[in-house]
Amino acid sequence: MNKSIVNQQSIKQFNTNKILKLLTSTEMISRAQLAKQTGLNKATVSKITDELLNENLIIDLGYGMSSGGRKPKLLKFNPDAKYIAGIKIGGSDIYFTVMNLHLEAVFTERIEIDNSDTAVIAKLLQKSFNQALKELNISSDIIIEVAVAVPATVTLEGMIIHAPNIGWKNIDLSEEFKDVFNGIPINTFNEANAGALGALHHISDPENTNLVYVSAGIGIGTGIIISGNLYRGKMGLAGEFGHNVIVENGRQCHCGRKGCWERYASEQAFYDSLEKKGLKMDKSITKVLEELDNRNPAALDAMNELSSYMNIGLENVARAMSPDYIIIGNKLRHFKEHLDIHDDIQGSKVLFIDKDSHTTIEGMGFVIARKYLYRDRYENNRLKRTGQKSSENNLI
Ligand SMILES: [Zn+2]
Repeated sequence: MNKSIVNQQSIKQFNTNKILKLLTSTEMISRAQLAKQTGLNKATVSKITDELLNENLIIDLGYGMSSGGRKPKLLKFNPDAKYIAGIKIGGSDIYFTVMNLHLEAVFTERIEIDNSDTAVIAKLLQKSFNQALKELNISSDIIIEVAVAVPATVTLEGMIIHAPNIGWKNIDLSEEFKDVFNGIPINTFNEANAGALGALHHISDPENTNLVYVSAGIGIGTGIIISGNLYRGKMGLAGEFGHNVIVENGRQCHCGRKGCWERYASEQAFYDSLEKKGLKMDKSITKVLEELDNRNPAALDAMNELSSYMNIGLENVARAMSPDYIIIGNKLRHFKEHLDIHDDIQGSKVLFIDKDSHTTIEGMGFVIARKYLYRDRYENNRLKRTGQKSSENNLI
């Protein structure tokens, strides 16, 4: 391709992005307002909006109110032009969601699992996927990408190195699930990184924000955002605060070390502690909350221990990173009222994710929707599904 064609294309992409940014941040807008606010001439705006109408990314609402003179025709962004499938795989359950470009869930299902064999999970996902297509009355063409979050070390190429709480090692989910999703590209995310991106999506000034997301479930994973960008480290494996040693020669961890933070301040650590106190119970947040409400002394005691170990690890995070926010998500967020966690550590605000939000899935949707809208329709939908490309796998 010669240089002037490349330049023309990038100028066009730049102008289209400007228009799309305005359209996605306003309820409705006329072509004249688009021209005024972007500084582009009316002919360019007309050409670009015609193309966006053809792509179904915007809708023509017809004539709006006039403020004198000709009535303007109003345009509106169409969040349902495309969908994204978001999947969160945990040790005991899977969330399967289909969301639109505004990250609104249009289909959600929670599936309990007691077997993490990839073939078994592929079958369960196939069932949910077919159900979603049927209920939404859509074909798989409308789904841009399938994003899967796993509590695992994930390389920049999207390979799972180790998911200790699921029992996976060296797995490529785009291979394992390739027959499930009719050729839709599959993208694997580290669960804490996805959660960090989801948390960032709720912050008003994301570009200037530093945050650490602490995913406290069966283990502890952390995702690091620096100035609005995910920090992944050299091989994509950064953010393993869960394996900082907080007790010398302490409890054995699956990572090979002893005394890791996640062995003391995770959901699993809580159940272990309860068992030691003679209270053996199912791994169920609802049951734990019941025991806490009944003022069960063993449960209250275990919760106090959890709080103090959680505070030690949070202080390590705050001292190492000094972020604007440390945000606690995943299963332990349900214990917010019962945990005694410092809300400010050396100037870093400590917050909990809301009980009902699906931050991890939102984080993946946020990245994919943004890339689809602003980066050559996400590299022409991963080279027309999927002659590959985009090897830095998923993020921003
Ligand atoms: Zn460890």
